[in-house]
Amino acid sequence: MKIICIGRNYAAHAAELGNEVQKEPVIFMKPDSAIFRQRDAFYIPSWTTDVHYELEVVVRIHRLGKNIEPRFAPKYFTDFTVGIDFTARDVQSELKSKGLPWEKAKAFDQSAVLGDFLSVADHDINNLNFQLKKNGEVVQDGNTSLMIHDIPHIIEHCSQYFTLKIGDLIFTGTPAGVGPVAHGDLLEGYIEGKKVLNVKIR
Ligand code: MG
Repeated sequence: MKIICIGRNYAAHAAELGNEVQKEPVIFMKPDSAIFRQRDAFYIPSWTTDVHYELEVVVRIHRLGKNIEPRFAPKYFTDFTVGIDFTARDVQSELKSKGLPWEKAKAFDQSAVLGDFLSVADHDINNLNFQLKKNGEVVQDGNTSLMIHDIPHIIEHCSQYFTLKIGDLIFTGTPAGVGPVAHGDLLEGYIEGKKVLNVKIR
């Protein structure tokens, strides 16, 4: 399976990092080795001093697809959650400044955290409130209606380039409020007030 990630999909987040909003979705990937196992705490890697959390809605593909039209996109996923796209911001900034690919900053081991999956049928995926709390305080407060590229168009765009397979995950971009993590922090992710994600930082 593969993990497709969308960047700069909320205007307020693009602005906070000084990035221009692009016409087409910004896409990068993480390998399956990036998936975080909930029993572990997240250990900040030794080669970075500035790991940021990015809470994002994540959909899981349950049907093989290629060149999917937006109106058919809802048939390709039945469950979703929120996840954290951990980012080594210091490494990413250095790579960006040199025009190099982001993988080392974005696709490293344990960098893709997943919450408990919920059924799309029980939610309005296009108007969904989601939140991240750090040490009990809300630091990110998003709603999927504010996405620049909504989920059907993300699926359309990605599936032009990459065949979507059962089990593939799509991280749909983070709202504003990203920030660094430190040893001892507790991160908790919520969907419509329901806690689905819990990570301790070591
Ligand atoms: Mg992200």
